[in-house]
Amino acid sequence: MSRNRIYLCLAHMSGKEQEFIKEAFDTNWVVPLGPNVNGFEADLKEFVGGENEVVALSAGTAAVHLALLACGVGQGDEVCVQSFTFCASSHPITYLGATPVFIDSEKDTWNMDPQLLEEAIKDRIAKTGKAPKAIVPVALYGMPYKIDEIMEVANRYDIPVIEDAAEGFGSRYDGRVLGTFGKFGVLSFNGNKMITTSGGGALICSNIKDKNTIMWYATQAREAYPYYQHETIGYNYRMSNICAGIGRGQMTVAQDHINHHKHVQALYEELLADIPGIVVNKAPSEKFDSNYWLCTITIDENVKVKGQEKAYGAAITSAVGGAAGVIHAGGGIHTDCEPNANVEAMRMALDAADIEARPVWKPMHKQPVYENAPAYVNGISEAIFKIGMCLPAGRYVTDEDVKYIVEQIKANIL
Ligand SMILES: *Cc1c(COP(=O)(O)O)cnc(C)c1O
Repeated sequence: MSRNRIYLCLAHMSGKEQEFIKEAFDTNWVVPLGPNVNGFEADLKEFVGGENEVVALSAGTAAVHLALLACGVGQGDEVCVQSFTFCASSHPITYLGATPVFIDSEKDTWNMDPQLLEEAIKDRIAKTGKAPKAIVPVALYGMPYKIDEIMEVANRYDIPVIEDAAEGFGSRYDGRVLGTFGKFGVLSFNGNKMITTSGGGALICSNIKDKNTIMWYATQAREAYPYYQHETIGYNYRMSNICAGIGRGQMTVAQDHINHHKHVQALYEELLADIPGIVVNKAPSEKFDSNYWLCTITIDENVKVKGQEKAYGAAITSAVGGAAGVIHAGGGIHTDCEPNANVEAMRMALDAADIEARPVWKPMHKQPVYENAPAYVNGISEAIFKIGMCLPAGRYVTDEDVKYIVEQIKANIL
């Protein structure tokens, strides 16, 4: 049987992208500014709504970096960040010489636990004599965080919030787009995100003054002289006009993409409903309007999966996500925190059936690179990491594909 491999989330073009790119070439705007950048920012501004401003950048990681910088994060500071996330939420904290303080999740949304956040802030103040400089909640797989509670804590201690909505493009909390609650909101347009610019990101700013600050940092922080005069360190983080052309094309279908991911989620919920031990992760209430960038399930440790006694039998030779470029060969087969054998067996079985599935992100407080960072934990992200799995949800995933994936899951349970 020949079927195409089903991927988690592949870039999907509208067809309009090339028109915008062609125009950039025809008018010689092949630079990191220009009509497509302005047009894409205008589209994004309209999409997020309100008085918010948007700056297009070269990556979501750059957006996190500049948001931290604009919140005054520097050498020796601390930043509270959700532990259950992709590394781009926390790595930029270290770029600035600051230390991440990892906050575990609550079980309703898998995102930052507001109560634990407050405990952490109190404890950091008691231990270091100063409050963390910023708070970074993350919309994991698109699911909105408990932003009302998080903002309440943040306001009590007067700490700015940087929403990492890189995975939550178009998700809403109580009807309002994620990324518009805090001081800054991070978006990503990497190749696998809800919409793509091949690589890119944006920062949602609450006002024009912040937008100008971010633009200034993103263009090498130049002073107003007829020659290059530098009084502050800046970065080369502006989005290219070519990439922004892709973004403008993608914005014509952004809502279709979001609707598709929600449709796939609903189908998983329906088709996986009566399998004992398999739970489809979903929003706790209607207030949490997830874009379902990736659909996730948990597999109870008692579920027996074909071949689980052989899981972790051989070392993995490539990085998850097909990371471009150079990857270190794995140091071993096991770490002290890994998905259960039945989850790994299911991943391998789906892989053999040409379905890309992945473990959920490994919590940052369990990553060796962060072993010395303070962490406030309750066991929830670690427990979910052991039983969680991401399933394909992208625009190319058809109803037939979802049925096939569910069949394969069922067929591999003993
Ligand atoms: C993708 C992602 C980012 C930003 O990543 P880029 O690849 O640099 O655009 C940030 N945070 C999270 C949680 C992400 O998933």
